[in-house]
Amino acid sequence: MPDTMSDADREQIRQEFETARGKAPDQEGPQVFQTAPGSSVKHVIGVVSGKGGVGKSLVTGALAVELKRAGKKVAILDADITGPSIPKMFGMSGARATATDERLNPVLSVGGIEVMSINLVLEHETDPVLWRGPMLMGVLRQFYEECNWGDIDYLLVDMPPGTGDVALTVFQSMPLDGVVIVSSPQDLVQMVVSKAVNMAAMMEVPVVGLVENMSWLPCPHCGKRVEPFGPSRLAETADYYGIRALDQLPIDPNLAKSCDAGTFEQDLPQGFVAQAVDQILAHEELGR
Ligand code: ADP
Repeated sequence: MPDTMSDADREQIRQEFETARGKAPDQEGPQVFQTAPGSSVKHVIGVVSGKGGVGKSLVTGALAVELKRAGKKVAILDADITGPSIPKMFGMSGARATATDERLNPVLSVGGIEVMSINLVLEHETDPVLWRGPMLMGVLRQFYEECNWGDIDYLLVDMPPGTGDVALTVFQSMPLDGVVIVSSPQDLVQMVVSKAVNMAAMMEVPVVGLVENMSWLPCPHCGKRVEPFGPSRLAETADYYGIRALDQLPIDPNLAKSCDAGTFEQDLPQGFVAQAVDQILAHEELGR
């Protein structure tokens, strides 16, 4: 059974939440972003994690590719401004977003997925983004509202990692239909995943389910499933929080290489995040 949160942890999350709320431009309530005239986004799905480096971007990319393969019109908004990795995964290193009628045009992947990311607008994509909250929020608002998205079935948002200010403000401002929570096996035994679950609950955003990344790997000699972090706790953890257990993803060195080489979209194995995709598609009619 995962550890429950202590009162001190709860208080810390409550304080982070209050701080983020205090910083919102409109004290009476968050401003929810709206797409520009001529663009329509049917469903917005956020991908979140309690901390960085657990494979949130990889899962965002995989969901996008598989929804696209299922015949949907898909876009990715890379809201992980300080650690953007989507453009590189999709072979867009060096690509730049153009503008039409003072609005940004997302860059199209090989397979037709629209992508908007800070790395597509920075002069040098290796420059660190050393901005504070309000500036980050300004960019995210621009990405959502001042972008020529066109007609999109699913906009996947690679959310800022963690449960700090920026993540909370994004939760308040993006019209999220639901969030997929990504965790690593260690997160499931620590408190990290509970932070993400509680944040979604506080913001009243439905949780699509929990994905356990880097859960196992095929033995290079015999192909048998090896669980380097011990038996999965996905089902037990999901049960504990009353959310759905989705995919258990393997550590896949080839996929890590594909991310670096920019061929992720072509190389992603079929059905890599099948349960998460099924769950998202099953909620089609629940959108706004
Ligand atoms: P986050 O968005 O949570 O910071 P990323 O998706 O950028 O994490 O993943 C961090 C690194 O781990 C990347 O180099 C990525 O290619 C690698 N990675 C993530 N998940 C896997 C996996 N299942 N198998 C192999 N490598 C992975």
